[in-house]
Amino acid sequence: MKNRLKEDIVASGRFGREPERRVDAFDILDPENGVTRPTGTEANAKVRAYAMEKMEEAGLDVRMDAVGNIFGRKKGSDPGVGAVMCGSHLDSVVNGGQLDGALGVFSAIEAVRRLNDEGYTNRRPIEVAVFTGEEGSAFGMTLLGSTALVGKMSYEDALARKNPEGRMLKEVLENSGYAGEFVMDLKNVEYFVELHIEQGPVLYNKKMPIGIVENIAGITWVYATIRGEGNHAGTTPMKMRKDALVAAAEIILFVEKRANEMVDKLGSATVGTVGKLTVFPNGTNIVPGRVELGIDIRDVVPAHMESLKGEVSEALKALEEKYGVSVDVSVPPFHSPEPLSPEVVDIIEKSAAQTGVRTMRMNSGAGHDSQNIASRVKTGMIFVPSVGGISHAPMEWTEWEDIETGAKVLTQTLRNLAGS
Ligand SMILES: [Zn+2]
Repeated sequence: MKNRLKEDIVASGRFGREPERRVDAFDILDPENGVTRPTGTEANAKVRAYAMEKMEEAGLDVRMDAVGNIFGRKKGSDPGVGAVMCGSHLDSVVNGGQLDGALGVFSAIEAVRRLNDEGYTNRRPIEVAVFTGEEGSAFGMTLLGSTALVGKMSYEDALARKNPEGRMLKEVLENSGYAGEFVMDLKNVEYFVELHIEQGPVLYNKKMPIGIVENIAGITWVYATIRGEGNHAGTTPMKMRKDALVAAAEIILFVEKRANEMVDKLGSATVGTVGKLTVFPNGTNIVPGRVELGIDIRDVVPAHMESLKGEVSEALKALEEKYGVSVDVSVPPFHSPEPLSPEVVDIIEKSAAQTGVRTMRMNSGAGHDSQNIASRVKTGMIFVPSVGGISHAPMEWTEWEDIETGAKVLTQTLRNLAGS
């Protein structure tokens, strides 16, 4: 029998890969050549079109909302009960892997195909979901589509966000034909479940096929622009400089040091990263006049996240006096740590046991649309192992056997959640 899920993953993994290369085994991955398909790119439009075609082939009724979230509905036998939603995202980071997000979308479609094949009559409707802009690589905030969906941000504000080329999400969606009119009312959704790669080393190192997520870490980003004085590197005396990059260097070390101290003192799951640094004008013989920083802070405890964010903001402001620079700090809407539904955790555990699969409970350090949906709908997440714990990089991989195990557990979970 042909492996439809493998076919979809391999086919979708070509979109956004240069050159469009087919990767179907770990040993042919190229550490330089991952997938790049942020929201609004042509590659993103192609992978969405591919998924929508597969959803239609599976008999789903496909609709799109104002921010481009896609939903595909399999009718249930009882129109009076809430749906089971299942899905993930199709956008990627720059030069990322082909499984992050895509695995959850194509596994959800495959689960529906398996239920169709066996003539399963689901009592609750099943909604396969694809969320827009999960990675935040284009529009400056992560989980964009699901944030609008749960009402933490208005559709208008989401549509007004701009990508690095200054184009608004609204324009980008309209140009690519992905601006819809459908409104998904979450009051009609009883459960949400997302299958995802772990993106960390825990399951792989323990040789554990399935992880069941109990909590998702919150994420907050801090953006800062430090303005000093761009000047000649040869003629500007050391004592007369306003070097924006030297000021920024202090923050990079501060974030690293404080996150480590919190881990040591509190035993917390805190992580802090300065992952983005843009230096202007970026010339060897010029004192940097302006630096833009992107800082990522995460924890499963809200107070930890808040306190590190506060300290970083203060440290940024303190640069003004010390270095004679000016500093602008902005914090986009952040994502709180989110406990997932104990009921769904139990059901996933039961489903895995029925499938004869070992599981462990764990937290997620990575952010997922599930954490947004969990604020409105009973939500669970299923993790499969990432080879070597690698993700957001071209070498991201999950063994086909583990992918199949994940698909089986997901299908069984849908049977249990949707009922018959
Ligand atoms: Zn993801």
